[in-house]
Amino acid sequence: MDAGTVTFARRTTKAVHVGSVQVGGGAPVSVQSMTTTKTADVDGTLQQIYALAAAGCDIVRCTCNDRDAAEGLARIVPRSPVPLVADIHHQYKMALAALEAGVACLRLNPGNIRKPEHIKAVASECRDRGVPIRIGVNGGSLDPELYEKYGGRVTPEAMVESAMRELAYFDEVGFDLVKISVKASNVPLMIEAYRQLSEATDHPLHLGVTEAGPLPGGLVKATAGIGTLLAEGIGDTIRYSLTADPVEEARAGRMLLESMGLRERKNVDLIACPSCGRAEIDVIQVAEQAQAAFGERELPLQVAVMGCVVNGPGEARDADLGIAAGRHRGHLFVKGQNVAVVPESEMVETLVEWAEFISEHGTEAALARVDTEKARAEAERDRAALLDEKGDDANASEAKVDVIRKL
Ligand code: SF4
Repeated sequence: MDAGTVTFARRTTKAVHVGSVQVGGGAPVSVQSMTTTKTADVDGTLQQIYALAAAGCDIVRCTCNDRDAAEGLARIVPRSPVPLVADIHHQYKMALAALEAGVACLRLNPGNIRKPEHIKAVASECRDRGVPIRIGVNGGSLDPELYEKYGGRVTPEAMVESAMRELAYFDEVGFDLVKISVKASNVPLMIEAYRQLSEATDHPLHLGVTEAGPLPGGLVKATAGIGTLLAEGIGDTIRYSLTADPVEEARAGRMLLESMGLRERKNVDLIACPSCGRAEIDVIQVAEQAQAAFGERELPLQVAVMGCVVNGPGEARDADLGIAAGRHRGHLFVKGQNVAVVPESEMVETLVEWAEFISEHGTEAALARVDTEKARAEAERDRAALLDEKGDDANASEAKVDVIRKL
């Protein structure tokens, strides 16, 4: 099977609209993050929201923990480039205030807003305004009664029951614009809770590993939990909860979805060889320079940085564009075909220039603008010279194997 045609079948869920973004019902999986500013700081919060949107975030959540935050939201909502969700804990009146401010969705934690009359008052108001709610169950703040019922432990069953109890209150007032999350910091627990939840309801699910922690461990834990579920077709919207700049959360979410073929590529997908004894450049350094140069540019291409011209163009022949080093020169190739030779110092800027050209005019036009035969001949000359210098076994693996055999 062609790798490009492999897809993950997604579970069917109801559609809910968070402002302009559809969640569930077959919509693309969306990326969420949360601001870390005081919501009362309108300019600071908007700045972070814009940075998140630029990094690929579709929906942003802001805390609404007091009256100043609610007033901030009233000023932020009309200027936000993406729909906003108000995060509500403990005080149901803050949910009503956030609705007044015009947010596109609420997040309620059933573990800390527990009075049925408060829950139903918020759900009724959301029903009348057509605003959805995320039931955000969190393993760390599970309803104490459920915690006791399940033996003083947080279990998948307890988290699912917490969500289903909240849903039952919503049902009583005829409200069903609902997304649900059952996050835990323990990855196997979180995976099992979502599996059980997906059997119990067809409301769209918001995936996350809560308090995943700083990089790189947080990234690994969140990817293990979210990626596993997405591969099983579970999940309609995701958030990486990292102890880092929230822009990293948005980038990670976007990259996960793009790498799993669940979202169209938006920015450059930079691949690079791991480097070896053949490398003619410091691959790590050049790849980092290229990453910084591409930044958030909207160039939906796969770009390769390869350490040598001996194997690089072949190993990265599926990339839209790449560069391979050889004898102090950079050999540029498009879909595996050599197109230009540039001094080593110009490798990164040449990559950016060609990426912009391909993004605008396409691969055929890029190949048509140069004499590919001349570039191929030059690459072949450098390749042959390197093979001459280093031989077939640049890593001296075979010599080592010989020694081992003689031990
Ligand atoms: S052979 Fe060349 S392209 Fe492959 S890992 Fe080594 S340096 Fe990189």
